[in-house]
Amino acid sequence: MQIGWQRIRQVNTHKKIIILTAPSGAGKTSITRYLLNNFSRLAFSVSAATRAPRGEERNGIDYYFISTEDFNRKIKANEFVEWEMVYEGKYYGTLKSEFHRIWKEGRIPVLDIDVKGAIHVQQQYPESTLSLFIEPPSVEELKRRLISRGTESPEALQARVNKASYEISFKHHFNKIIVNDQLEKACGEAAQAVRSFIGDNS
Ligand code: 5GP
Repeated sequence: MQIGWQRIRQVNTHKKIIILTAPSGAGKTSITRYLLNNFSRLAFSVSAATRAPRGEERNGIDYYFISTEDFNRKIKANEFVEWEMVYEGKYYGTLKSEFHRIWKEGRIPVLDIDVKGAIHVQQQYPESTLSLFIEPPSVEELKRRLISRGTESPEALQARVNKASYEISFKHHFNKIIVNDQLEKACGEAAQAVRSFIGDNS
């Protein structure tokens, strides 16, 4: 009986995907972390990226930090579900191997990716994705948050702000829009959406 239930659970979880997308600085990383801490069946899908690690970031945990040459090799070898040049000269991509690693554990990959990448993943797995768009209260507030984070040069910051306005125009492509004016409330809304998508809160 026990084994039977485990098998059903495994089938139910099989190939589900949760995507969090938003303009940079909208708070999707905090919400992603909240979901991962509260749902043991979720696992972070670690992307490959060609930018340098920031602060405490660790290779293989936050990203697989790889060279542009390595990234190109992976594109040629068809190792990505999707990839984007998210910022000038900086490549980010979702690895097929991450999905397989996580599905094999009977868990659900959680992606923290940009809007274009999120649309691509959704198109490839239309029946099995839950996509959450995290909207900042305003572009001005987003700029303020990025300044207080203090990780960007003025040029990089302006590039992120410009990109944000563009990305917000795609919000209706996603299953649910969550306005992050209060982090706790936004986390609660995201958890509710995840709970109904995965069928329980374990
Ligand atoms: P950051 O440099 O701040 O870590 O990330 C920049 C942006 O790239 C964020 O919006 C992040 O969600 C996005 N990103 C991270 N990994 C991927 C990925 O694998 N694919 C795509 N398309 N975007 C990603």
